[in-house]
Amino acid sequence: MREGGDIDYQELARFFRERSFDEFALISESDIQAPVGRRPRDLLPGCRAVIIFGKVMGDDVFSSERRTASEGVRRLKDELRTAGEELVASLTGEGYAARTAGAVVLRDGTIRGSLSLKHCAVDAGLGEIGDSTLLISPRFGNRLALGAVITSKEVRGTTRPERPCGICTHCGRCITACPENALQTGKIDLFRCRNVTGTIPGSLRAVVIRLINAGDKIPLLEPAINLVAGRSVPRCSECLLACPHYRRSDKK
Ligand code: SF4
Ligand code: SF4
Repeated sequence: MREGGDIDYQELARFFRERSFDEFALISESDIQAPVGRRPRDLLPGCRAVIIFGKVMGDDVFSSERRTASEGVRRLKDELRTAGEELVASLTGEGYAARTAGAVVLRDGTIRGSLSLKHCAVDAGLGEIGDSTLLISPRFGNRLALGAVITSKEVRGTTRPERPCGICTHCGRCITACPENALQTGKIDLFRCRNVTGTIPGSLRAVVIRLINAGDKIPLLEPAINLVAGRSVPRCSECLLACPHYRRSDKK
């Protein structure tokens, strides 16, 4: 594996501009304070930098027409995945280790992202996590969909950005809006959230939740969940829509 070398910020900026991405940040691995087990080095030993990028979810994603919403979500997921894969190909082509961070893992009896993208985004100065557990960006509100690439290539010369704070006003609208009482301040019960339960057929729900609670011992459960998560379309956006930051976007 190649050692040394710096990621070129301007080159990266051009990469995301050409693909119409709305936000990106480059952060040293040592500045990431994501939860233990979901840090970059847990995924890629030797990781030195995280490239995190975001695209604003368009109005189609929130359409009441199921087909329009599905197409919007799939297009967004494809754009995030393609950009991540292109970056990985470029970095590995230079001889560095790199991987995308999109998969989910089963840990502590629940489903989590393999890397906490929201926490990385906060550490990169892109926003704050609200009581809804969603990222709230000062520029784009709560409509930023995130992707990330982690790499052994180094990032130097960037100062750690100020974390924005005070964006979530703790108004409680997201908690009140949740039809499943899945939210408490800053916490979510994923097994109540319709975006998780809706992807599991009703007759299998109890069994799948029991298997997940059993942890990593069930072979093929994690790949199966990743397959479903990769294809799933959110069933509910009530907490997101209720937040005063839903409309805040430089693009609207
Ligand atoms: S997406 Fe819906 S079900 Fe899930 S936490 Fe938000 S409001 Fe509740
Ligand atoms: S609805 Fe209110 S409490 Fe919930 S995330 Fe938005 S600002 Fe924070």
